[in-house]
Amino acid sequence: MFHISNICKNSSFSSYIVIQVRNKTKTHWAKLKRKTSPKYKALNHFDDFYASVFGNKWEPMREAMLRRSKYVAVVNNYGDAEETVEFLTNKGAHCLRNLMSIQQEFHKEYTPEISNPIPQNNTNKLQEYVDRVQSEDISSIYPQASDAPARLNFTDKRSDGNEQTLQLNKSEMDGNQSQNYPTTDSQLDESRIIDPAMGISSEALYQYIPATKLKGMDEWVPESLHYSFYSTDKDFPLVNEPETEFKMPEHLKVYTYEMGSEYHKFPEPKRCQTGVFNYYPMDCGSVLAVLALCLSPGDRVLDLCSAPGGKALVALQTLLPDIVVCNDTSLARHNRMERIFSDYLFDFKTSNRWRERVLLRRIDGRIFTDDQGFDKVLVDVPCTTDRLSVNEDENNVFRPDRIKERLRLPELQSQLLTNALRLVRPGGAVVYSTCSLSPVQNDGVVHASLKRAFEDHGVLAAVRDLTRPMSALSSTLSLASGDIAPRYGQLVLPSVAANFGPSYFARLVRLK
Ligand code: SAM
Repeated sequence: MFHISNICKNSSFSSYIVIQVRNKTKTHWAKLKRKTSPKYKALNHFDDFYASVFGNKWEPMREAMLRRSKYVAVVNNYGDAEETVEFLTNKGAHCLRNLMSIQQEFHKEYTPEISNPIPQNNTNKLQEYVDRVQSEDISSIYPQASDAPARLNFTDKRSDGNEQTLQLNKSEMDGNQSQNYPTTDSQLDESRIIDPAMGISSEALYQYIPATKLKGMDEWVPESLHYSFYSTDKDFPLVNEPETEFKMPEHLKVYTYEMGSEYHKFPEPKRCQTGVFNYYPMDCGSVLAVLALCLSPGDRVLDLCSAPGGKALVALQTLLPDIVVCNDTSLARHNRMERIFSDYLFDFKTSNRWRERVLLRRIDGRIFTDDQGFDKVLVDVPCTTDRLSVNEDENNVFRPDRIKERLRLPELQSQLLTNALRLVRPGGAVVYSTCSLSPVQNDGVVHASLKRAFEDHGVLAAVRDLTRPMSALSSTLSLASGDIAPRYGQLVLPSVAANFGPSYFARLVRLK
């Protein structure tokens, strides 16, 4: 990368000599590199998207996400649990169960009206944002063209062969069929069409962008495809009821430092006498996703996207499930999961007891099948991993070569959740979770999957609102409330005082 700094005319050669000079100091190059780095791109993207959705509440979340995150300590019941509890208490940490029951009592006594708030939502702000992204996409396909549609059209091809239009283009909104855009596949040059394996959203381009405009754009995926998932239509039975069965599992021991406490770092875990580590440090939001399963004794549990196994380990620490099936497609992460289980579950490698209780699988979660049905299914999907994306370049989902993968995340997430709703037995529960603030990947995917599961598979599930039980955490962490609260799930917001999350989790109970 050289800068042309000097062009001088040489009379004897009567031609121009171009002298390339590497300009400026190291700082300049470092700055340039930083500006094109994936984490810079991620932060830029979030600044635009999340500021639109969360308004002035985004700035403090942003600040927190760029700082060191906070962890809780999950005591290992398969080690010297009592000794570990004593050690953590001596370090000034508090038991989460105690904090929750104190807070619950306080709410009951002093603020009964806040224990069951009606969740608002941020649909309008998001819609405005989606409209803007759409029009930016349109101007990139149709630069200065007068024949541009007002919207790209995202068409959902359902398994029954019928198509369902999620967004209308301008001509349809006006009630006219435009002559400018091809309306049948036969009018398109298919060799130049974007990969049809993209699923639901590729239909958009397939149908409404003239082939002439697609030349050389085979790899192009519009940013707005990502947002086509956010729909709020209610043309299927949508049941949303308060959760009344939530209980903190008796044997689960989670330790945390108080909100705002300066001392919030646990020392490195140590090996117990039995060789396993004494506690597992993890984000409190991850623990909450497991709590939302409301595990019962003897449960048969499926962790559909399990690796490296943190949440499965919490489920095992409750001592409640009989069987936990840990599934994940990634071999590398599978190996990590096995290492973690060996580090925390005494005799994991050699004992038959574990081989019967913890079943490791490597099957694509979208097509995972099972004859018996599960009592609980956890779907902790791949997502934009917001905190990681703004802090680490390595393996960042905002890397240019991962753009398609990133934009198709909601489709993958929805396929995983829809299959989970089929795998759980009627009466059982599915918990969907992400570590993203994106309403598209959170509520958007829950809504689309409930609709898909009902329309394509006859599966009806109710959203169980966890607002009331989670209000017991108001002195421990920051949960989205009021006009930024999700409609279906709970959202742990990063905050400087309690720097957990972001984490989203929604509890769905299958009715039929
Ligand atoms: N639940 C894990 C934990 O608590 O340690 C973290 C899961 S991580 C957020 C998402 C996982 O989904 C990744 O390990 C990834 O390999 C896996 N994954 C991605 N696509 C998948 C698919 N189609 N089926 C199953 N797992 C998938």
